[in-house]
Amino acid sequence: MSEFDYDLFVIGGGSGGVRAARLAAGLGKKVAIAEEYRLGGTCVIRGCVPKKLFVYASQFSEHFEDAKGYGWTVGKSEFDWGTLVANKDREIDRLEGLYHRGLENAGAEIIASRAELTGPNSIHIKATGQEVTARHILIAVGGTPNPHASLPGHELCIKSNEVFHLDTLPKAIIIAGGGYIAVEFANIFHGLGVETTLIYRGKEILSRFDMDMRRGLHAAMEEKGIRILCHEIFDRIERGADGRLVAHTNQGKSLVADQVMLALGRDPNTDGLGLEAAGVETGPKGEILVDEYSRSNVESIYAVGDVTNRVELTPVAIHESMCLIDTLYRDRPTSPDHDLIATAVFSQPEIGTVGLSEDDASKKFDELEIYRAEFRPMKATLSGRSEKTIMKLVVNAEDRKVLGAHILGHDAGELAQILGIVLKAGCTKDDFDRTMAVHPTASEELVTMYQPSYRIKGGERV
Ligand code: NDP
Repeated sequence: MSEFDYDLFVIGGGSGGVRAARLAAGLGKKVAIAEEYRLGGTCVIRGCVPKKLFVYASQFSEHFEDAKGYGWTVGKSEFDWGTLVANKDREIDRLEGLYHRGLENAGAEIIASRAELTGPNSIHIKATGQEVTARHILIAVGGTPNPHASLPGHELCIKSNEVFHLDTLPKAIIIAGGGYIAVEFANIFHGLGVETTLIYRGKEILSRFDMDMRRGLHAAMEEKGIRILCHEIFDRIERGADGRLVAHTNQGKSLVADQVMLALGRDPNTDGLGLEAAGVETGPKGEILVDEYSRSNVESIYAVGDVTNRVELTPVAIHESMCLIDTLYRDRPTSPDHDLIATAVFSQPEIGTVGLSEDDASKKFDELEIYRAEFRPMKATLSGRSEKTIMKLVVNAEDRKVLGAHILGHDAGELAQILGIVLKAGCTKDDFDRTMAVHPTASEELVTMYQPSYRIKGGERV
C-alpha cells in the first residue's frame, strides 16, 4: 500500500497535462488529472484548433474571387457567423470527448474541479473540499491572455478567450499586438469581411521572425486592406454614445470599432495555485522555474508547458510531458530538446519557419550566405491576385550548414514541418542542391537557389 493516494496528480487538462496523465496511467501508475474548465486546454478549446477552423472559414472570400480567373462564376455568397461558431463548437466538443475517452481508457481518474497545492505532496480539490496526496505532482495549467490591466478601458476589450464566442461578427475591429494571435486574427477578421486595424508598438510586426517575413507579410496584409499602425499604442478605450468603442492612441487618433481585441502575450496561470504553500519558486512573470528535467525546486513537483514560460507552443508542452514520463517512469532521464523548433503563423499568406533569422545568425556567425527568392505563386497568375511568395535560406558560409529556413506563402506551415526535419538532421546547402526539384511546386525554389543572393560578413551585407 502506497503512502500516497496517487503516484501522479496532474493539475491542468491541456495538451501537456493530458499527455502526461494518459502515458503514466498507461504504464500502470495511479493517476488523477484535475481540470476546472474543459479537457483539451487552450489549444483545443480556445486556441490552435478553433483558430485554424476560423482561418479556413476566412479563406473562402479569396477562393471565391480567385475562381473567376479559372472560368468559374460563383453565385452570390454570404457568410453566417452563427453557423461557423456552432459548427466549430461541435468539433471542439468531439475533440474534448476524445480527450476524455483517451484518459479513461488509459485508467486515469478525471477530476472536474480546480485543484490547488497545499504542500509538496498534497492537493486541495475545490469542488469536493477533499485533500489528496501524490508522490509526484505535475503542474500543467498553461497561461492566460495578458489583460493589460493598466490600460484605461481594458475591461471593454476582448481577448483570445472571448473571440471564439462573439454573439455577432463585428463590422469593425481593432486588434492590439504584433504577435501570432494579433496577426492571425487580423487576417481572419479581414477575410470574413470585417474592417480590420492592427495596432502594434514596435517598428514591424512579428518581432521574433526574420525581417523578410515580417516586411513581406506586412505588405501583403496592407495590400488586402488591413490597416496596420506601427509605433502606436492605446491610451484608453471608451464606449461612445452609440455603443461602439472608441480607441484613443498615443498618436492622437480616435479609432472607432465594434470590438477591440488585446493580443499582448500570455501570462502563466499560477495565481492562487498554492505555489507558496508548497514552496515552489516562480520567475518574474509568475512562471514556474524548472530544471532541464522540468522539475521545480520542490523535488516532488514538476511543471510543463506554458506555465513554465519556456516555449509557448502545444507540441513543446506535449514533448516536455513525454520526456517527463521517460524520466519518472521509464528509468530514462530525458530533458526536452528546445533547439530548432519549427513554427507557423497562420496568417494569409502563412509564415513557416525554423532556425535562425538572418539578424540572429549574423550575430552568431562570421559569414553567412543568404539565398532568397521572391516570386508570384502560380495560382495567382490566372486569378490575377497580386501576391508574393518569399523563400529564404540562411547558410553558414564556413560549413554550409543551413541555419534557418523561412517561407512566406501558401502552405508555409506544412513546409515548415518538413524543413524542421531537414534542419534537425543538420543538412547543408549542398544537400539542398543535390535534391531533385518537385515540379511545378513553389517549394522547388528551396532546392534551385544555387547562388547566394548576398552575403553577410561581420554583421554587414556585402
Ligand atoms: P506574442 O508573444 O506572439 O505577441 C505579443 C505581442 O504583444 C507582441 O507583438 C508584443 O510586442 C506585444 N506586446 C506585449 N506587451 C505589450 C504592451 N504592454 N503594449 C503593447 N504591446 C505589447 O503573444 P500572443 O499573445 O500573440 O500569443 C501568445 C503565444 O501563444 C505566442 O507567443 C505563441 O507562442 C503562442 N501562439 C502560437 C500560435 C501558432 O503556433 N501559430 C498561434 C497563437 C499563439 P513586442 O513584439 O514588441 O514585444
